[in-house]
Amino acid sequence: MSIDPKKIWSSPTLPTLPAVAIRLLDASSNPDFDIKSVCELIKSDPAISLKLLKSTNSTYFGFSNKVTSIERAVPLLGTNVVITLALSFSLVDSARGSGPSAKYFSQFWLQSLVQASAAEAVAKKIDPASASEFFLAGLMIDLGRLAMLKTITAPYVAVLEAAEQSPLPLQQVTQLALGLDDRMICRELMNHWKLPESLRTAVGVSRGNVPEIDALEGTPEANLARAVAIAAAVGDYFCAAAKGVALERLNDLAKRYLSLEGAALDEFVEALRERTVKAAEMFSVNADDLGDPADIMAMANEQLAQLAVNASVATKQAEAEKEAVTAEKQRLTAANEQLQQQAMHDGLTKVYNRKFFDEAIAKESHRCMRTAAPMGVLFIDVDKFKSVNDTLGHQAGDTVLVKVAAAIGQVLRGADTLARYGGEEFVVLASQPTEKGLERLAERIREKIEGEVILYDGKRVPVTASVGAALAIPSRSDDGIVQRLIEQADLAMYDAKQGGRNQVRLRVLVEDSERELGQAVIQRRFSRWLVAGQHLDQAVVMRSLVAIPAPEIKIGELASTLGLMESSQIGMVLVEQEKSGERFGKIAVRLGYLTQPQLVEVLALQQESPRALALALAKSGAVDPRKLAELIARHRTAGPILPSPVMVG
Ligand code: GH3
Ligand code: MG
Ligand code: MG
Repeated sequence: MSIDPKKIWSSPTLPTLPAVAIRLLDASSNPDFDIKSVCELIKSDPAISLKLLKSTNSTYFGFSNKVTSIERAVPLLGTNVVITLALSFSLVDSARGSGPSAKYFSQFWLQSLVQASAAEAVAKKIDPASASEFFLAGLMIDLGRLAMLKTITAPYVAVLEAAEQSPLPLQQVTQLALGLDDRMICRELMNHWKLPESLRTAVGVSRGNVPEIDALEGTPEANLARAVAIAAAVGDYFCAAAKGVALERLNDLAKRYLSLEGAALDEFVEALRERTVKAAEMFSVNADDLGDPADIMAMANEQLAQLAVNASVATKQAEAEKEAVTAEKQRLTAANEQLQQQAMHDGLTKVYNRKFFDEAIAKESHRCMRTAAPMGVLFIDVDKFKSVNDTLGHQAGDTVLVKVAAAIGQVLRGADTLARYGGEEFVVLASQPTEKGLERLAERIREKIEGEVILYDGKRVPVTASVGAALAIPSRSDDGIVQRLIEQADLAMYDAKQGGRNQVRLRVLVEDSERELGQAVIQRRFSRWLVAGQHLDQAVVMRSLVAIPAPEIKIGELASTLGLMESSQIGMVLVEQEKSGERFGKIAVRLGYLTQPQLVEVLALQQESPRALALALAKSGAVDPRKLAELIARHRTAGPILPSPVMVG
């Protein structure tokens, strides 16, 4: 259950301060206020007058002669003490409670008096002149509790009952049970009563932690804050159920702020008890419940021991829980990984499944559309596989499939993707294929399968496959490319079956003009030029070629760097490209910005950086750097004469 604090502030039973008390409060902050005015104010309230006289003659003050008039009492006690007493009487009388809740009101006032007396006693050690102000502050520490007792009596009494059985501080139980913050309610009520700011500030930290109390160091409230903090600890120690926590706090605060510990602290606490009994008499509060210090100490220590046991049990439990959670997480991660593996792989052959392949080829097609790179697909179908099943059985067929998949895998490069497409059909998505390269790969796979020694029941099962290959350079927005490519590879595979099986067929989905351009670009690449012109050995060039990364630069940028195109022309091409979806180079040639040989030059440089290749060759130590410089220059002049001799890459 959670209670809206608004319920407290809108309650008609919220405690109020009598008019006299409020005027006395105003008076206390007015330096011109004299004894005579105080006397008159007190006398305007007969009940307060009577109590004041009774108090003056009580053992609390211990005067020897009987005092019979306010005029005599006020100078004897001092205006500060009088004002404090009058305020305290008003406060206590404002809330006494009746019926079943009366017990809790009297418990509350008893604790408040312990706290008032304790604050006053601390004042005597650190700020004797302010003793009465400290007493009043001590009396107000738990005003939040009073407000709740008055306004939400039934639920709050339930909380108080619960707290009697709990080793947790009452304030924490209240927070847990009702979602209400004692400290906040206390502050609000003090605001409501327009009590001085210094009082509110100090009382605000009475159950706060040490850094909060120390944060007031150097302010006028510093001493008062320390006093109420110690007072609250003493109050909880005497009156609250959670005595263990209170004792620890009292030991800490008393040592820290009063340098009081051991026997001296015991003595201080014992003296406080006496003082409280006298104050209770003065305020007509029943002090019978104020326990004996020795009993309280025993209870507190028992609780502390219990708390320590609970804490270690809790720590052990938490550790065990943490371990269990970690183990569970690991188990889930492993299970998840396995599921993911299963989701991507074919159960029999362990190569990727069709779903994975479909996703991979879709991704690749987008990449190739952007970069005008070629895509290559192989379709591999085991020949006469049905007869393996028919003659040797299904299990033999399975063995063949596993072996065939492994054999294909051995031929591929890491960047190629192999998947089982259907029964005895496999597909390969070749990475960065060329026409020749793709055909060679298909042939190597065919050869490998044919040469594989697959044994079943100790006998070799001869296996061959027909391979269809398809290559395409997707245009900029060719959504059907994936389907067409697979279709063509499948058709090429059927061509191979038609041709007598155990062979390779290639289908190229590239227009003739594009194909010619592609060939020309390849011829113009520095590596090709070096090998074709017999300037360097092919093996040496290839070794260095694989060591260099493909340059990532757009054609437009490259053409501009080479001084072939102006930025306005690049803009025009891009606009046109948006409309027609054609390739950049094709449009640039059509609009007359580039000649065909210039386009070949730019594309060749885009695919391969001569300078990077030359650097790699120089590094390999196989070629003299001076010779390389000369070769680069010769390669350049072998192409179209460019406006600016910029080196790229
Ligand atoms: P072709 O040379 O024309 O490809 O002849 P084929 O016998 O290989 O072709 P067909 O498509 O007629 O037969 C394929 C057979 O593959 C039929 C099917 O029973 C078998 N098959 C499909 N999946 C599996 C499998 O997981 N394990 C086994 N053992 N056989 C399978
Ligand atoms: Mg088939
Ligand atoms: Mg087949």
